[in-house]
Amino acid sequence: ATRILLASRPVGWPTAEDFRIEHTALADLAPGEVRVRNEFVSVDPYMRGRMSDARSYVAPYAIGAQITGGAIGRVVATTLDSVPIGTLVLHQQGWSDHAQGDAAQFRILPDIPGLPLSVRLHVLGMTGMTAYVGLVRIASLREGETVFISGAAGAVGTAAGQIARHLGAGRVIGSAGSPEKVALLTEKYGYDVAFDYHDGPVREQLASAAPEGIDVFFDNVGGDHLEAALDAFRDGGRAALCGAISGYNSTEVQAGPDNMANLITRGLTLRGFTLGHHLDLSTEFQERMTTWFENGGIVYDETIVEGIEHTVDAFLAMMRGGNIGKMLVRI
Ligand code: NDP
Repeated sequence: ATRILLASRPVGWPTAEDFRIEHTALADLAPGEVRVRNEFVSVDPYMRGRMSDARSYVAPYAIGAQITGGAIGRVVATTLDSVPIGTLVLHQQGWSDHAQGDAAQFRILPDIPGLPLSVRLHVLGMTGMTAYVGLVRIASLREGETVFISGAAGAVGTAAGQIARHLGAGRVIGSAGSPEKVALLTEKYGYDVAFDYHDGPVREQLASAAPEGIDVFFDNVGGDHLEAALDAFRDGGRAALCGAISGYNSTEVQAGPDNMANLITRGLTLRGFTLGHHLDLSTEFQERMTTWFENGGIVYDETIVEGIEHTVDAFLAMMRGGNIGKMLVRI
């Protein structure tokens, strides 16, 4: 197997030297084990946090250990009649062309004719569900409300804009990092207005995009975006704090929003969340999202990098904004 290990803890932006590619022979299967050839491997922003040893909601990767995370593939060798060759599985073993181990580590997925495998790693999987949980449970989005979504052209953001529409949002506003992404938000993803955060202060751009203010903020970015939302909030506004990617590769302490007093005067709710605490919504999410998807009510983009040996390039490109929709590695 070819797999990617963490060689050293990155300081600031990770570099190629922080990772190592290893080629190993796979062990024979023990009873109860299966071997999977991965078809797609996911690269996600939270992995940057796990490369550091700061305290977080997931344990850090160990130096010299494989980078783990979401991947999807098919069983190519098995010791179990219940998991035959060809079975489609989702697992967390991450950055490798193969995965193997106890069958319990692999979640069997039904093969749905016509459904691309990769969507199980995004719109119908982790990032789609993150968008759903944030809007439905954390921000309690109600019909007719105005929603602002930062990081709108990424995996979570593209799902969030469409879910907001399906839930009856009145006006959906998005920000992203290039003119191409901004155009896609309004042309493909159902956003009413979108802006490029490089074009001027987010505070000013959000004020013109939402002259009457916002009710819900779904934040993937933090920093200047959170500050702008605090200004734009109407009374009773709610924020689902999903991520703060603007600070993930920074070695400086991030400046805080200067307008936190609005929390008090406008009665705002800012609530952070990690998907892992809300898995009880899985069935509801799968049912609703699958229905929307099958009725053509969900579109998506993928940015695909070929080959396990380019996984680090894919990860870094994603962190720099080189993806539209979900960044994936095809094995
Ligand atoms: P994306 O597909 O959105 O990829 C990351 C994007 O972040 C890039 O494409 C880039 O787009 C944007 N970005 C990078 N740097 C900056 C910056 N300085 N300012 C603004 N935008 C920036 O990733 P995901 O959809 O997988 O994740 C989005 C967010 O959701 C992340 O913050 C992640 O940590 C969080 N998350 C949280 C979960 C939870 O359980 N709470 C679960 C999953 C994700 P651009 O070109 O627009 O800059």
